[in-house]
Amino acid sequence: MKVLKFGGSSVADGGRIKEVVEEVFQAAAKERVAVVLSAMKGVTDLLISAARSAEEGSDDFKGFLETIRGRHFDAVRVLFPPADQAAALTPLALMCNELEEILHGVELIRECSTRTLDLLMSFGERLSCVLVTAYIRARGRDAVLLDAREMIVTNDHFGSAAVNFERSYQRIEARLSPIRGIAVIPGFIGATEKGVTTTIGRNGSDYTASIIGAGARAQMIEIWTDVDGVLSADPRIVPDAFVIPHLSYEEAMELSYFGAKVIHPYTMVPAVERNIPLLIRNSLNPSAPGTLIASGEAAGGANEKTDGGRRAVTGIASISGISLVNIEGGGMMGIPGFAARIFSVLAREGVNIIMISQASSEHTICLVFRTAEGERALAALNHELTMELETRRIERFELIRDLLVVSVIGENMAGTPGIAGRLFSSLGQAGVNVLVIAQGSSERNISFVIEEKDHVLALRTLHAALVAPRANKEAVS
Ligand code: ADP
Ligand code: ASP
Ligand code: MG
Repeated sequence: MKVLKFGGSSVADGGRIKEVVEEVFQAAAKERVAVVLSAMKGVTDLLISAARSAEEGSDDFKGFLETIRGRHFDAVRVLFPPADQAAALTPLALMCNELEEILHGVELIRECSTRTLDLLMSFGERLSCVLVTAYIRARGRDAVLLDAREMIVTNDHFGSAAVNFERSYQRIEARLSPIRGIAVIPGFIGATEKGVTTTIGRNGSDYTASIIGAGARAQMIEIWTDVDGVLSADPRIVPDAFVIPHLSYEEAMELSYFGAKVIHPYTMVPAVERNIPLLIRNSLNPSAPGTLIASGEAAGGANEKTDGGRRAVTGIASISGISLVNIEGGGMMGIPGFAARIFSVLAREGVNIIMISQASSEHTICLVFRTAEGERALAALNHELTMELETRRIERFELIRDLLVVSVIGENMAGTPGIAGRLFSSLGQAGVNVLVIAQGSSERNISFVIEEKDHVLALRTLHAALVAPRANKEAVS
């Protein structure tokens, strides 16, 4: 079996749906396929906006709802001949009515819990799947719409629910194995054991595809998006970025964790577990070979050819909207368990620490997280460390905003001397100030924090200094 996942831009309108369904038919002519779909591009954002305005008691939610309804109805008009449009519109209209009722409920009680928001967001993927399934059937093929909520079992951490792999794999296998036609499955959503709808994190349809692929023991998971593959940097920031033909699972995980939005970072987890390759492809350019993400050996072997036998830096990624807290004070020196206290209080608050750095004198600990979580983190730390502050064992906390985490990633950076030197000297020459540095012991990743204002300059400088020379070398050879 092959799993094909199409992102929001690949199902953005009727024209795009027509094209991707051709890809599905081509794949289905060769083997069994399961199709995982995102909501139409922008629909999840519209649903969130609708929820927020309903919660504020504003009528604006109706406008957002009309846009959502209109996008789906327009696609029906493109995809179906006039005589068949009414039948295709009916289930979509019913779902939009249900959505309206829930939004109306939110407006009345002026409250939208994370649980309700998950239910509202689930409509995006459910609507796109109803539409595409109907279209596949109208084209004369057998298609079965499966409810991801009966397959992906999660906890009730609404908004980014954790998946229970064992339970999910059992259900996926049971649901998928009897199906002979094309299975269509909404991405992004799951349900608790009790059947309450959850979502598994923004951009999570990639992750769904991988869970389905692992559960069905697929031979391949294809992630179809709007770029030719995983690029050496975000193409919107570095115009010279180029497609990376092969990545190890670990490299892909590092790149996506540190901001390469093209694939959700968790996607690699189920795929690694069952050793299923992932292929990132472009639905706007299906003839492009894409990026193959596979085990280190497979990917590394392919990479041996480049950079004098060993490829060092594979790609650069960045996360903006970052803040850091510096905790300073002599009182931390040599006290066992101090870091543990800090981590557990932040974990309790649900603050995700992206990077940590501690000076060797233990005089400062620096924690890096998203600005959206910054105030919460600061308040929690202030509360936890009141005594240390009063007794001056800790001198101060400092919250610095408007920062960016940059990561330079490459499987073969380990044991390639001089990378860090080239990295920081090129930044120095460009006048970019580096606030914090961290390197994992795997040496697969060097991450550092700079000011947001240096974003474009830093990424272009690093790409030219560390990544692009490889492309030039390949072009010459
Ligand atoms: P989809 O809707 O298919 O899930 P996304 O918008 O989530 O697509 O991800 C694709 C986008 O990710 C690309 O259009 C590109 O702008 C962005 N992107 C950021 N970093 C990278 C990268 N390193 N390689 C490829 N694309 C990237
Ligand atoms: N529709 C969801 C989102 O926009 C999930 C996805 O597209 O992957 O985040
Ligand atoms: Mg995506």
